[in-house]
Amino acid sequence: MGLLSGTVFDRPPHCERCDLPETECRCEPEPEPPKVWKSPSKQTARIAVENRKHGRRVTVIRGLSAADTDLPELQTLLKNACGAGGKLDGDVIEIQGGQLERIRLELQSLGYRVRG
Ligand SMILES: [Zn+2]
Repeated sequence: MGLLSGTVFDRPPHCERCDLPETECRCEPEPEPPKVWKSPSKQTARIAVENRKHGRRVTVIRGLSAADTDLPELQTLLKNACGAGGKLDGDVIEIQGGQLERIRLELQSLGYRVRG
């Protein structure tokens, strides 16, 4: 009697749901669980208007992390709210123009704490 007989090692991998060998399993792959983001009320956004080259002004949102917040979606939402372009640079969102008040209100309405 081999050392491994009767253990999982001499059984090919079986599906956990239908118990067929994985080669015969026809189960649908399980959908990815939706990502759970951190509650906005536990995050503080720091916003500031900064001057860029050629007299351009941008409103910069810092302090939010891509691990906690869907930053691409937030950026899209803020761009739409301001009717302005913008970009996402790492964890920093930039919206064109001096939009401090509008962005503050928008973030606060989403539940974020806002500084600046
Ligand atoms: Zn299966």
